[in-house]
Amino acid sequence: MKIHEYQGKDILRAFKVPVPKGGVAFSVDEAVSVAETLGGSVWVVKAQIHAGGRGKGGGVKVAKSIDEVRTFASQILGMTLVTHQTGPEGRLVKRLLIEEGANIAREMYVGITLDRACSMNCVMVSTEGGMEIEKVAAETPEKIVKEYVVPSAGFREFQARRLAFALGLTGDAFKGAVKFLLALYKAYEATDASLFEINPLVVTKEGTVIALDAKVNFDDSALARHPEFDALRDLDEEEPLEIEASKSNLNYIKLDGNVGCMVNGAGLAMATMDIIKLAGGEPANFLDVGGGANAETVEAGFKIILADKNVKAILINIFGGIVRCDRVANGVVEAAKKVHVAIPIVIRLAGTNADLAAVILQESGMSFLVATDLKDAAEKVTRALGA
Ligand code: ADP
Ligand code: MG
Repeated sequence: MKIHEYQGKDILRAFKVPVPKGGVAFSVDEAVSVAETLGGSVWVVKAQIHAGGRGKGGGVKVAKSIDEVRTFASQILGMTLVTHQTGPEGRLVKRLLIEEGANIAREMYVGITLDRACSMNCVMVSTEGGMEIEKVAAETPEKIVKEYVVPSAGFREFQARRLAFALGLTGDAFKGAVKFLLALYKAYEATDASLFEINPLVVTKEGTVIALDAKVNFDDSALARHPEFDALRDLDEEEPLEIEASKSNLNYIKLDGNVGCMVNGAGLAMATMDIIKLAGGEPANFLDVGGGANAETVEAGFKIILADKNVKAILINIFGGIVRCDRVANGVVEAAKKVHVAIPIVIRLAGTNADLAAVILQESGMSFLVATDLKDAAEKVTRALGA
């Protein structure tokens, strides 16, 4: 689950991680009143969308007067912000963060995430802040310094000191960074986050260390432990079909292709997408209907796949392990009748009672294209696209 920068900063603030003073605004007037309440002479007007790279796209502006706050707020609010993370269609900006302008001396980077390869959280820093960290990782990986956190020991103070040292900090800034990192890690752990990214982490001309940006993602599997995060969800930022799918407990991710896929099991779903591409097609989605696929889940899956207007053919690939193929076949026939699918459907059912399933599909009177194996299924569905 992703949240907005201002929400992330509220969380950091609660854990005593230094962030600039600021407030959210949903209108230009609100933006002005937040700026007036903050006082000072420099404010930053920041688009709030669930994507980074806003600065480059024109979504972050420094204002030197209240009039400028008004001007920038009206420019950014309602704009379609395109960044390297939004895709070409961009995102409509509906919220702004108005915060005090920091006097930046240096921009750095700090990130925390789980390194699945070694089953440990990793705290990483880089002197190359403010730019795309992916680029730093690709071109100058030696400029990213990492500390791994042994779960039983936690993130230790010496590790925070090592990282602050790697950032080249001295004096008060060094002490500030150590405190910052320890507090940041505490917040990461306590919120069951899957990613914290502070880019840039800055040292101000006054020598303080603060988070100027905050990307906070939570681990979806831990959300049950945090009912308080429900209120942070912004459905405007989520794919409508993915919201619909989550209501039916379907794992659905929308993609850009034209072959709708319905598969049971995440691994098989990935393999199915691969083989569709290999046959020259483009998957329109990832959809894992789960181990116990039945008529209802198949119907819900159909509806979601068909709501995507790019879909020109459907490939159903179910392995009958826990669920029997004849039950799935009955489910598919029932659902297809109810939903009125007007595009070609290719079905590959393998496993328990696959032969029974084949008979059910054949005798249904519907024009399913039955495939014998995965390769055949992918070829049939890409051929059906041209038909
Ligand atoms: P994004 O990563 O989406 O581009 P950031 O929050 O990192 O957005 O902002 C982009 C840049 O804007 C930062 O690298 C920093 O230079 C500047 N900036 C952001 N917030 C402030 C602030 N409160 N004071 C001064 N400069 C800021
Ligand atoms: Mg940033």
